[in-house]
Amino acid sequence: MEWYRLSHTETLRALDATATGLTIAEARKRLAQFGMNEIRHEAQRKPLRMFLGQFTDFMIIVLLIAAVISGIIGKPGDALPILAIVLLNAIIGFVQEFRAERALIALRKMAESTAILLRDGARISVAAREIVPGDIVLLEAGNIVPADLRLLEAVHLQAMEAALTGESQPVEKTVAPPADEQVSLGDRLDMAYMGTVVSYGRGMGVAVTTGMGTELGRIAEAIRSTKAVQTPLQRRLALFGQRLSIAIFCACLVMFVAGTLHGEPLFMMLLTVISLAVAAIPEALPAVVSITLAFGARRLVRQNALIRRLPAVETLGSVTYICSDKTGTLTLNRMTVETIWAGVTSFTPGAAPPWRPAAERPQSPVALLLTALALSNDAAIDDQGELTGDPTEVALSVAARAAGYDRAELERLFPRLAELPFDSSRKCMTTVHRWGERVISFTKGAVEVVVGSSASALGDGGVAEPLREEGIARQVEALAGEGQRVLAVAMRTYDRLPDIPGSDNLESGLTFLGLVGMIDPPRPEAQQAVAQCRTAGITPVMITGDHPLTARAIARRLAIIDHDGTAVMTGTELAALSFDELVARVESVRVYARVVPEQKLNIVNALQQRGHFVAMTGDGVNDAPAIKKADIGVAMGITGTDVAKEAAAMVLLDDNFATIVRAVREGRQIFANIRKFIIYSITSNTGTLIAVAFGPLFGLPLLLLPIQILWLNLLCDSLPGLALASEPADDDIMNRPPINPTEGIFAGGRGYFVVGFGVLIGAGALVLQALTMRAGCAWQTMVLTFLVVNRLTVAMAVRSDRRSLFSIGLFTNRPLVGALFVTLLLQLTVVYFPPGNRIFATCPLTIRELSLTIAVAVGTLLVVSELQKALVRSRARRG
Ligand code: ADP
Ligand code: MG
Repeated sequence: MEWYRLSHTETLRALDATATGLTIAEARKRLAQFGMNEIRHEAQRKPLRMFLGQFTDFMIIVLLIAAVISGIIGKPGDALPILAIVLLNAIIGFVQEFRAERALIALRKMAESTAILLRDGARISVAAREIVPGDIVLLEAGNIVPADLRLLEAVHLQAMEAALTGESQPVEKTVAPPADEQVSLGDRLDMAYMGTVVSYGRGMGVAVTTGMGTELGRIAEAIRSTKAVQTPLQRRLALFGQRLSIAIFCACLVMFVAGTLHGEPLFMMLLTVISLAVAAIPEALPAVVSITLAFGARRLVRQNALIRRLPAVETLGSVTYICSDKTGTLTLNRMTVETIWAGVTSFTPGAAPPWRPAAERPQSPVALLLTALALSNDAAIDDQGELTGDPTEVALSVAARAAGYDRAELERLFPRLAELPFDSSRKCMTTVHRWGERVISFTKGAVEVVVGSSASALGDGGVAEPLREEGIARQVEALAGEGQRVLAVAMRTYDRLPDIPGSDNLESGLTFLGLVGMIDPPRPEAQQAVAQCRTAGITPVMITGDHPLTARAIARRLAIIDHDGTAVMTGTELAALSFDELVARVESVRVYARVVPEQKLNIVNALQQRGHFVAMTGDGVNDAPAIKKADIGVAMGITGTDVAKEAAAMVLLDDNFATIVRAVREGRQIFANIRKFIIYSITSNTGTLIAVAFGPLFGLPLLLLPIQILWLNLLCDSLPGLALASEPADDDIMNRPPINPTEGIFAGGRGYFVVGFGVLIGAGALVLQALTMRAGCAWQTMVLTFLVVNRLTVAMAVRSDRRSLFSIGLFTNRPLVGALFVTLLLQLTVVYFPPGNRIFATCPLTIRELSLTIAVAVGTLLVVSELQKALVRSRARRG
C-alpha cells in the first residue's frame, strides 16, 4: 500500500481509524490480529540448545569418547560414573545459564521504549511494541519513531532518517502528500518511519504498518544477526584460557607418555590425563563471568541503574571521571520561581499585581512578562489537574497562575499561531499569538541569547526605551550568584504573521521585558555522593547549559569546586580552544557552563586523551554522540529521550547523580568478586595439576583416579565459586583508586599468589600421599579429602586480598559458609556412604585420619595466607 499518496481522510478510512485514536478494546483486538510491533533480531535461545551447548567443549567431548571406549574395552562400571558427573556438570551449567538469561531478558523488557498514543481520545503512554495499525502516535523531539506513520500533524517536525535512507541531514516533514506520484523513501515527507529519529519539533501520525511489516522490519529481515557480545574481561579470559589450555594439554601429553612408560595401564592413564585436562582448563570461566554480570545487572536495577549493555557492569568500576548534567541530576529539578524582575520592579510571584484578562489587554512590562510566561509555555494539565512537562515551564506556569495569568484563558484570547520549540543549542523558545488585529511573539530563554536578540526594552509606561544591558547584567549576576536559574523574556509585535517563521526572523529585534529567577535546590544525596567520588579517586564534573554563575553557586554548594574561579569554563571559552589546548586544560575544569550538547563530545574526547575512563550523562538527541563515545554512557530515565537511552550503556531510572556513584561502587565489587572467583578456581586447579603431574616423577603412584579428579572439579567449582560472587564489598572499596581498565586479572601480585598457593597445595598433597602411603592407610581418600578441604580454605582466603579472614569475620558471607558446609557434607558422603565408596573408590577414614587431614589442609593454607596478607598490608602501609 502506498500510504504516502493518500489524503488524511483516505488514510484513516483505509485503516478504519479516527484522529482521536482507537478504543482500548479495538486496539487489543488488532494486537491479536497484527501481532507485536517489534523487530525480531534474533531467535531466543531455546532451553534445549542451551543444554546441549554444555557438551560442546572440546575436552568434554574427548572425555565422553574416552569414557565410552574405556567402558567398552574395560569395565562399564568405570565409564558410567564419569558420564554421570559430566551430565551433572552440564545440568549445573545449564541451570545457571538459564537463570542468567532470564535475568537479562527481564532487564531488556525494562529497557523497552514506550510511546505516547491517543486512545479513546486520551493521551496514554504505551509500550512501543503494543502499537497497532490505526493507532494515533504523538511525536516530539528525541523520540525514535515507533512504527511507520502517515503524518496528520507536523510542527517544524524534522527527522533524521540515516538508518533507512543513509541521508545524514535531518528532513523537514509535512502533512501533505508529495506532488509526484512515485517518490522514493527519502522524499515521502508526509511519512515518519520506524527507527528514525525526531530531531526537532513535534507531530502526530497514524500508524500504518507495524513490526516486521515496516520499512525497518524489511531491512532487519535481511540483516538478522545473532552474535552475542563479549565483555573485555571475557575476551581476555578467552585468550588466557586458550594459552592455558595449550600449556595444560602439553603437560597432560608429557604425563601420559611418562605414566605409560612407567607401566600404568594405557586406558587408565588416558582417562586420567583427560579428566585432569577437563578439570584444569578453565573453559567455564567466560560463562561464569557472564552469569555474574547478569546477576550484577539485576542487582544494579534494584538500585535504579538499568544496564543496557552488559560489559558496562564490568567496566563501571574503572570510571575515573563522572561528567554529569546539572539540572535534575545534581539538582532536584523542582523549580520554583523566586524572583520576577520587570523594568524597575522586582518581586516574588505571589506579590504580582493581580489582573483580570477580560478587562484589558496587558500593557505594562510586568503584565506582558507574566502573559509571556503563561503563553510561551508547553506545560500541560494532566487528568488529575496537575501541571506536567518541563519543570522549568511548570514553574513559570505556576508563577503566572499565582498572579492570575491562566494559560487556558489567555490562549482563548490570544491563540497560538506558530512556535519555535525550545532547543538546548539555541537555548530559547518562541511562540507567536494573535494579538487583537495584530500578531505578537514571546521569546524566553537564556539571558545572553534573549538580550542579545533584543533591540530595546519596554519601559514602565508601555513604550520602548533603549536597552540598559549593564543594569540587566547586574541583576543577573545578583540572582545567579545565589544559585538562581535566570531566564530572560522578550516580545515583538507584527502587523501580520511573518511569511517565514524561522528563528532568524522571529528571534531578532526583540523588546526586552524582564527576568525570572528560579531556584532548583541541589539533591541532598548528591553532596554525599560527590564526597564519595573524592575518596574513590573519581573526579565529578558538572556540565550545564545554565549560566556560569548559577552553575558555580550550585557546584560550590555540592563541593564539586571550592572557591577558585579557574575551575569553571564556559562554552564560548571551550569553543575558542584547539583540541590540544583543551586536552592540556581539561583536568583542571570542574564545571562547564553555557555549553551546547555538541561540546560534550569534545570534553569526552579530551578526557579520554588524558587516559581517563569517562562516564557521561545526557538526555537530549544532541547528547547521544557524547553518550555513545563515553566509556560509560548514561542516559536519564525520566527526562531522557529515546535517542539518548538508545545510545547509553546505563539508564538512571531516578535521574540521580548518587545512583551513578552507587553503580560504580557496585561495579567495583562485581569486578573484585569475579576476580576472586577466577583466582580461586585457577589456584585450586593449579594445585591439583601439580600434585597429579609431579607424583610419578617421585615414583609415587597416580594421586587420584579420573573419577576422583572430576568429582573434585564438580564439587569445588560450582557452589563455593558462585558463593564468592555474593561476597559483600570491602568497606574501603570506595577509598581505593579506580580499577585500571587495562590491568589484567593477575596484576598486583595475583599471579604469584596463584603459583605460590598452587605449589603449596600440590606439595601438601604429595607429602600427605608419601607419608600416609608408608603408613599403609586409606591414603587416596585422605588425599582427595585434603584437596577438597584445601580448596574450601582457598575460597575463604581469597575473600579479601589484604584483610585478615578473622577481621572480615568467618561467617560474614552466608552463602559461602553454606556452600562450604554443603560441599564438606557431600565429600563426607563420598567417604562414609557405601555406594559413594563404590563409585568413587574411596573408603571410610578413621576419626584420627579425618581430623588429621582436615587440620593439615586448613592449617597450612590459612597460616600461609594470613602471613601473606600481613605482608601485603605492611607493604601498603609503607608504600
Ligand atoms: P541544563 O539542563 O544544563 O540546565 P539546558 O540546556 O536545559 O541546561 O538549558 C540551557 C538554558 O536554556 C537554561 O539555562 C535556560 O536559560 C534556557 N532554558 C531551559 N529550559 C527552557 C525553556 N523551557 N524555555 C526557554 N528557555 C529554557
Ligand atoms: Mg536541561
